Amino acid sequence: MAFLFYGESHQGKNMVIHISHELQREIAEQLEATYPNEGGGFLLGQGAADQMQIVDIVQVDNVFAEAEQHHRYAMRPQDWMRLEDLADERGLSLVGYYHSHPDSSAVPSEYDREHALPNFVYIITAVMMARANDMRAWQLRADRSAFAELALENHLQPQRRGADSAQDA
Ligand SMILES: [Zn+2]
Repeated sequence: MAFLFYGESHQGKNMVIHISHELQREIAEQLEATYPNEGGGFLLGQGAADQMQIVDIVQVDNVFAEAEQHHRYAMRPQDWMRLEDLADERGLSLVGYYHSHPDSSAVPSEYDREHALPNFVYIITAVMMARANDMRAWQLRADRSAFAELALENHLQPQRRGADSAQDA
């Protein structure tokens, strides 16, 4: 039943998210298949206050009957329990949610901010013309005013030539 609560221990210091190339491809393939609709699912992982390893995903259409997919943000307690049991069985925790932004950037929307859980990791994937081309990780700030971006090694972006490309601010 335990959620992991990171917020108190890393104020001012953002978590680093580790996720394998293979898992990123799995997410990308799902979200490309659901394009032009939004797709999503849950992140199972393990970690400490400043490092998080995403170990597996649970696609939303595997969790809910199709008619219930609109519950993805407003889940019933039994849905949470089912997901947490699934994670517990594997020695993992339910740590976050991923979804696509079809033909939009991998930046949280106002809707995302209003519906976010404070200690969840949010991985957002931009899907442009049916191709996943950017993946970024976010976490809601404690005061809910905005998201903080988390470090995530993004394997979806093509290799940049040269080392002179602009650093993210
Ligand atoms: Zn969104």
